[in-house]
Amino acid sequence: MSSLRVRHYDYLVTGGAGFIGSHLCESLLESGVRVLALDDLSTGTLANLERCVENDSFTYVVGSVLDEELVNECVDLSDTVIHLAAAVGVENVISRPVETIETNVRGTENVLQAACKKNRKVFLASTSEVYGKSGEAPFREDGDIVLGATCRSRWSYACSKAMDEFLALAYHKDRDLEIIIGRFFNTVGPRQTGEYGMVLPRFVDQALSGAPLTVYGDGTQTRCFCLVHEVVTCVRALLDCPEAIGAAVNIGSVEEVPILKLAELVREAADSSSEIVMIPYDEAFPKDFEDMNRRVPDVTRLRQLTGFAPQAGIAEIIEEVIAWRKSL
Ligand code: UDP
Repeated sequence: MSSLRVRHYDYLVTGGAGFIGSHLCESLLESGVRVLALDDLSTGTLANLERCVENDSFTYVVGSVLDEELVNECVDLSDTVIHLAAAVGVENVISRPVETIETNVRGTENVLQAACKKNRKVFLASTSEVYGKSGEAPFREDGDIVLGATCRSRWSYACSKAMDEFLALAYHKDRDLEIIIGRFFNTVGPRQTGEYGMVLPRFVDQALSGAPLTVYGDGTQTRCFCLVHEVVTCVRALLDCPEAIGAAVNIGSVEEVPILKLAELVREAADSSSEIVMIPYDEAFPKDFEDMNRRVPDVTRLRQLTGFAPQAGIAEIIEEVIAWRKSL
């Protein structure tokens, strides 16, 4: 910490070297504010921060949100906290269940405690995964969450993020902490890696390398893909919106894309002759895996609060991801 360039920051971004975090740091820096990023580089990378480190108003610290003392120090130095650090990716979450629960629950507890001590506003990144297997799509923020049995480890991620939300709302109600919760729906874009299971970067890599595109199940399950730049716009708009304090807000696109269709679109946009192969769930994942059929946000609240909702269409998104992948 002694090497920090300045001793005061407008924003602390936990998970700042991650896919979403690095885009958010860049956007904040472009508007002339000072940003401190905290990241343990478990899934984030310093390469993601290449542009940020050129800016004198930016500093990063390599460390974990599980390090209470470090979190206290970072929060102390910053006016507002954007808490993105979390375990990500279905495959990662299934293969490292203890880390997932501990990072998500204890890490968030550390951030909220530190923010409460210093009276700092917190944006908490949550996920559409908290809706679980609710059949009530489009999902409204006040709709029920429906999780599977505890023996199915996928649900530990949803449950840990739901616990984060409960804790943040409890700090708000009980201790007047200013918190805003954003539930992100399938964010995609440049810098997202397919390493942890995410479907779009996977398909793009497969199409560009001529490998088969691996569609799990029958490919009729749908997702709504939201371009990371629009997610960043939403996060920033919500932070500037006093009425968002104490609320959970969906952040996502409403364009529903079946996964088989996504594979076809990627193959076409990449001008690839890869085959598309269907892989049964029990071959793709450990036994008892449950996938969600539909996951669509209701963005009424987002629009009411910010006057904005994501609009980038799937064709534009695929183009951008392919162009980025080719530029590496
Ligand atoms: N998926 C797929 N092939 C892959 C990776 C994922 O068909 O190589 C499917 C996955 O089963 C899910 C959808 O794509 O139905 C989105 O998966 P992702 O992990 O990107 O996000 P999430 O499941 O969290 O929505």
